[in-house]
Amino acid sequence: MELKKLNESIYYSESVRATDRPVLGYVLGENFSIMIDCGNSKSHFDAFIKCLDDQDLPRPQYALITHWHWDHTFGMHAFDGETIVSSATNEILQRLKGWEWDEESVLKRLETKEEIDFAYNCMKKEYDNFDDIAVSTGSIMFKDSLTLDLGDTTCQILKVGGPHEEDSCVVYLKEAGILFAGDAHSGDYYHGEGKIDPNKMLAYVEFLKDLSFTTYVPGHDAPMSKDQIIQVLSRFCNV
Ligand SMILES: [Zn+2]
Repeated sequence: MELKKLNESIYYSESVRATDRPVLGYVLGENFSIMIDCGNSKSHFDAFIKCLDDQDLPRPQYALITHWHWDHTFGMHAFDGETIVSSATNEILQRLKGWEWDEESVLKRLETKEEIDFAYNCMKKEYDNFDDIAVSTGSIMFKDSLTLDLGDTTCQILKVGGPHEEDSCVVYLKEAGILFAGDAHSGDYYHGEGKIDPNKMLAYVEFLKDLSFTTYVPGHDAPMSKDQIIQVLSRFCNV
């Protein structure tokens, strides 16, 4: 894993398709630093922290979580700082925390459609043993948005919903004009086999148009410009 630099204080690690590891973000602040999402396992999380240590970047004090999906949250237990989640995300994490995570239980949940094949297959590649999976809830909750003043950077986490999941949030770094979007624009895999609801997409695209930013960082792809992402997503807005 290596850190990619977006500017003097904002970094990310790239996604890994085979095990569905998402992009993780990092913002170096004057007063404190944050990370965006915790990854799909302790080893994913630890690899990211090692990259920060190697570059002498201070460890993050807060982790902002974009949504409840396993690939963004199952590294949370490895983090010793505070995790910031929307109350909607936390409700779901609470439920997941109460579940059994041995392989047999996960397979049973595939039958009841509580889990999806894609996630199961990626978990199987990420984990030597399903029993190593640990689910954590957040330590700081917000309803619709929360603003953090890092000293020189204003960071807002905004619950936007969108076509992927009801609890999807984006992380907006105002001065830098950078938006970490998690999976907000993706299809709905847990309830709709990956389908995109055009009305939800339209609302999300309108939200993007109104926001002032130059760089869009998706959860599983390379960064794009504002114009590029709006152009790509607009194709899915027609009912
Ligand atoms: Zn997701």
